[in-house]
Formats: sequence, structure tokens, C-alpha cells
Amino acid sequence: MGKGLLIVISGPSGVGKGTVRDLFVNDPELNIAYSISMTTRKPRANERNGVDYFFVSEEEFLKAIANNELLEYAKFVGNYYGTPRAYVDKLRNEGKNVLLEIEVQGAQQVVEKCPQALSIFIIPPSLEELEHRIRSRKSEPEAIIQERLQKAIKEMDLISHYKYVVCNEDAQLASDLISIIIKRHIN
Ligand code: 5GP
Repeated sequence: MGKGLLIVISGPSGVGKGTVRDLFVNDPELNIAYSISMTTRKPRANERNGVDYFFVSEEEFLKAIANNELLEYAKFVGNYYGTPRAYVDKLRNEGKNVLLEIEVQGAQQVVEKCPQALSIFIIPPSLEELEHRIRSRKSEPEAIIQERLQKAIKEMDLISHYKYVVCNEDAQLASDLISIIIKRHIN
């Protein structure tokens, strides 16, 4: 049995990565395991520890960096986010295709370490639509919304670093396209 594929998906905050992911991640043909990140961000109302993220203190996060436990990490709008390495390695060694849903700085670290990783960037149909989606989440104060939007514009400059770009106009279509791309790479 070969080692599983490493799949990196990025896209600006609010683009709908989670919605798209939920539509393909359980397709048995794709044999995907989702890597749960560690973050110092506070959980949103619908988020659960150990399911959406491992929610940790800054002290715990800095300790994980110092112990070289993270495959990659980045600071994003005031909080740390990172991928615990041991879990990713274990799943890939078991032949699972491991999906990382991470922002652009972390994705660049992964692609440098693993050039064979399959990288996909999800773009919104327009910036207006992205702003609408971020606002409809109603979870963040105005200053953070503005910061996330500015960040989104900067992030979209980096799409040429990714192997594929998929537009999330329609979540089902975006998910179908991503499934096709992954199948091409695992078969
Ligand atoms: P959110 O706060 O909206 O859940 O996530 C903010 C950004 O951090 C998103 O772009 C998300 O993909 C990214 N992110 C989530 N987990 C990780 C991680 O482990 N590493 C990095 N570099 N980014 C992450």
C-alpha cells in the first residue's frame, strides 16, 4: 500500500471551504481523512473542540512549535493556526489521503516541504459576494470583518502558487470539480 496523498485546500475566509469540503470529504472513493488543526482562536457558537479544531491557549501553541510538532503554522488575523504533524504522518502511512484546509502562508510551507502535495485554491465568484458571505456569518465585529476582507484580497494574489483554482459559485459544483481533481491524482 502506497503512502496517501497530501491535499492542501486554501481560500479566503468566508469563501465556503467548509461547505464545499463537507460535500466531498466522505466520498469513500476519495479515501480522505481530514486533518484537524490547532488554533488559539476562540470557538464559534457551532464549533466543537476536537472536531472543528483543537482549541488551545497561546502557551500550548508555542510549546507545540518549540517541540517541532507542527507540519506548518501561521498567524492569521491575530490568532495562531497549525497542523499537528504526527496525525498527518500516521494517516498517510495508513494509505489515507489527508486533507489540510489552511491559509496561504501555511500552504506555502507545506508545498515547500512536500512538492508533490496536491494544492487547490477556492475563489469566490466576486469580492462583493465574499463580503456578503462573511457578514452573513454574523460572528465577528466590523474591524475583524474588514481585516478578513483585506486579507482575502492579498491572499488571492497568491493563487498562482496552487496547482488548481476552483470557483465556489455553487458549492455542489465546486465539490464535484475538486472530487474529479483528487481522483485524477490518486488513480
Ligand atoms: P477560521 O478562523 O475562519 O476558522 O480560519 C481562518 C483561516 O485559517 C482560514 O483560511 C483557514 O483555512 C486557516 N486555517 C485553519 N487551520 C489552519 C492550519 O492548521 N494552518 C494554517 N496555516 N491555516 C489554517
